[in-house]
Amino acid sequence: MPAADAIDAPPAIRNRLRKLGLERCVDLVLHLPLRYEDETRLSAIVDAPRGIPVQIEARILEVTVQQAPRRQLVARLGDAAASGGVLWLRFLSFYGSQKSGLEAARDQGRRLRVFGEIRDGFLGPEMIHPRYRVLADDEPLPRSLTPVYPTTGGVSQGTLRRLIGRALDTVDLADLFDDAWCRRHSLPTLAAALTLLHSPPPAVEQAELQARRHPAWRRIKFDELLAQQLSLRRAWLAGRSRGAPALAGGGRLAGRLEAALPFALTGAQRRVAAEIAADLAQPHPMQRLLQGDVGSGKTIVAALAACQAIEAGYQAAFMAPTEILAEQHYLKLHAWFAPLGVEVVWLAGGLTKKNRQAKQQQAATTAQLIVGTHALIQESVDFARLGLVIIDEQHRFGVVQRLALRHKGANPHQLMMSATPIPRTLAMSYYADLDVSVIDELPPGRSPVRTRLFSQTRRAEVTAAVRAVVACGRQVYWVCPLIEESAKLELQAALDTWAALTDELAGLRIGLLHGRLRSDQKAAVMAAFVAGEIDLLVATTVIEVGVDVANASLMVIEHAERFGLSQLHQLRGRVGRGAHDSLCVLLYQQPLSRTARARLKIIFENDDGFEIAKHDLCLRGPGEFIGCRQSGVPLLRYADLDADADLVGLAQTTAVQWLRDDPARVRRHLQRWLGEREDLLKA
Ligand code: ADP
Ligand code: MG
Repeated sequence: MPAADAIDAPPAIRNRLRKLGLERCVDLVLHLPLRYEDETRLSAIVDAPRGIPVQIEARILEVTVQQAPRRQLVARLGDAAASGGVLWLRFLSFYGSQKSGLEAARDQGRRLRVFGEIRDGFLGPEMIHPRYRVLADDEPLPRSLTPVYPTTGGVSQGTLRRLIGRALDTVDLADLFDDAWCRRHSLPTLAAALTLLHSPPPAVEQAELQARRHPAWRRIKFDELLAQQLSLRRAWLAGRSRGAPALAGGGRLAGRLEAALPFALTGAQRRVAAEIAADLAQPHPMQRLLQGDVGSGKTIVAALAACQAIEAGYQAAFMAPTEILAEQHYLKLHAWFAPLGVEVVWLAGGLTKKNRQAKQQQAATTAQLIVGTHALIQESVDFARLGLVIIDEQHRFGVVQRLALRHKGANPHQLMMSATPIPRTLAMSYYADLDVSVIDELPPGRSPVRTRLFSQTRRAEVTAAVRAVVACGRQVYWVCPLIEESAKLELQAALDTWAALTDELAGLRIGLLHGRLRSDQKAAVMAAFVAGEIDLLVATTVIEVGVDVANASLMVIEHAERFGLSQLHQLRGRVGRGAHDSLCVLLYQQPLSRTARARLKIIFENDDGFEIAKHDLCLRGPGEFIGCRQSGVPLLRYADLDADADLVGLAQTTAVQWLRDDPARVRRHLQRWLGEREDLLKA
C-alpha cells in the first residue's frame, strides 16, 4: 500500500475500516452513501407525518427515568413553535451522561433537534431511540442532505463522514475521460460526481439521488462497470494471447456423427456449432460458454466439437460435476463414437486403483475422447495431446475452478456448458472473460411439462397418480427432501421416503439413489432405471443435473419449498424428454415462507429457463446467483444490471478500446477501483 494513500487514522479505526474493505484513501472516496437523510427541514410535532423520518426542534419539559415495564430514560418535549404539541422520547438503554446532558439542557432552556420516526405511543406521539443534538444558540439547519454510509459496529457515521471529507480533499481524482466525453454521455466528471454524492447541494433532485438515477450516480456506476469489464476482459486477452493447437479438421468425423443421429439438429444447434468450430480453428484457446436451457441439446453440440479435435489428431476431455452425470455422458458418447472407430475412455474418481491406472495409461497414449468427473482435471492425469476440454454444467464448478483451469500447464480449448441461463446483462458483465453462445430453441416435438402444486395433506392423491403413470408403462422420479444443514439427515430422509413409498406403492419396482452409494451401486441403479427395470426412482438431488431418461414422465418433488429456483427448474427438466405428456408435482409443506411462496409461484407460472433465471436473479441478487461471492470476481456494489443495462454496453466498448490503445489508462483505472484486488483475476 503506497504510504501516500494510507488512511490517516488510529490503528483501531483502521482495523475496523479494513473490515469494510477500506484500506486506502481512494477506497474511502469510493465508499458511497446507502441513502440520505433530510435534515434540511423541520416539522411541527402536531402535523408531522408518522412512519417516516422527520426532524423536530423542541424544548425539553421533563426528563425522567422510568422503572416499569423496564428501566428507561424518558424525555418530554414541547414544540418550539408553541403549537402545543408534545413529543415523548424513549431510550431503552442509556448512559448516565445522557440523562445529565438532557437535564442540563432543560435547565438552561436549550432546544433539542431530534431526528427519527414518530409513532403513536401510550401517552401520545413518541420516538424510540431518536438521534438528537442539544443546540447551541443559533445553529442553522444543514443546507444539504445528510449521507448515511454502509458501516459496521465501531465506525460511526460521524467518523466516516469526517474521514471521507478529508480524503476527498487529498485523493487524486483526475478524470480519465475528457470533458467532451462527459458532455457526450451527459455524465459529470468523476470529481464532480463524488463531491455531489458525498455532500449533495441543496438544490439537488432528491428523488433521483435516493433512487440512484442521478447523473452523478450513473457516472460512478459506469466507472465501476468499466473496472469490472477491464479486469475480466484483460483475463480473456491473457488467455487468448497463449497459443493453442488450431483444430482445423475437415469436418468428416462430425459429418459422420451427424448422419448417424436419429434426429436433425435444430437451427440454434447448428449456429452455435458453427461458432465453436470457428473458434477451434484459431491458434489460441477458445474460452466459450455454451448456454442452453435444460433439454436444449447441448451434449451433441459438444460432441461435434470433440469430433473436430479428434479429427485434427488431438484428444478431447468431457467433464461433468457428478459421477452419475459423467456416466450417463459416457454411455451416450460411447454409443455415438464407438461405431465411428473413436477410442472413448471412462475415467472417474470411483474406479479401483488398478483400473484407474489402466485408464490413465490410455489417456496418456491412445485415447481420443476421455469422459469423467472433474477428478480428471484435479491431478495425476497426463493427457497425450489434449486439444479440447468440455465442462458440462459449469455453474457447478464455480468461478474459481473456471479460473484455475486456465493455470493448467497445457492450453487446450475450453467449452463450458451451462443450463443455468444467465440474463444477458449479467452474462455481459460477470462473464466478460468468456465468449457466449446461446441455444435459444428446444428440439421439436417436446410437450411442455405441466406443473402442479400439492400440499402435503394431499400426498395420497400424488401416490395414486404415480400408480396410474406406472400402469401406462411410464416411469417416475420422486425427489426426496433437501436438508441443507446435514447430509446425514438428508440420507435418513431419503431412506424414510423410500421405506414409506415401498409400503404405499406395494407391487411397484422401486429404486433408491443417493450420494452415499458407492459409484458402482449408483451406476447399477441408474442403468436399471434406464433399462426400464425400475418404475419409481426415489432419489436425492444427485439426479439434479443432466440425467436423461425419455420414458420418465412424472417428477414428484417432496418439500419443494426447500429447493432453489434453478434447482427446481433443473429437476423438472428431467421429465418431458420424450413424446409423452409429462407432469411435475411440487409437494409442499404449509406454512410457506414469503420467499418459498414466491419461488413456487414463479416455477408454477414459468417454464422458460431464462425467465426463471431473471426472477431468480431478482430474488437472490447477482452474487448469490452466479456463486461468486468468495471467488475474487469483483462484485458490483453500485451498478444495477437491470436499471443500468445501457451502461454495461458502454463499459464494454470502452474497455475493448482502452485495452487496445491505452494500457496506462487501464492500469490507472483498475488501481483506483480495485487496488490490490486487481491481481486476483490475472490469468
Ligand atoms: P441438455 O442441453 O439439457 O444437456 P441434452 O443434450 O441432454 O440436453 O439433450 C436432451 C435430449 O434431446 C437428448 O435425449 C438428446 O439426444 C435430444 N436431442 C438433442 N438435440 C436434438 C434435436 N435436434 N432433435 C431431437 N432431439 C434432440
Ligand atoms: Mg446436459
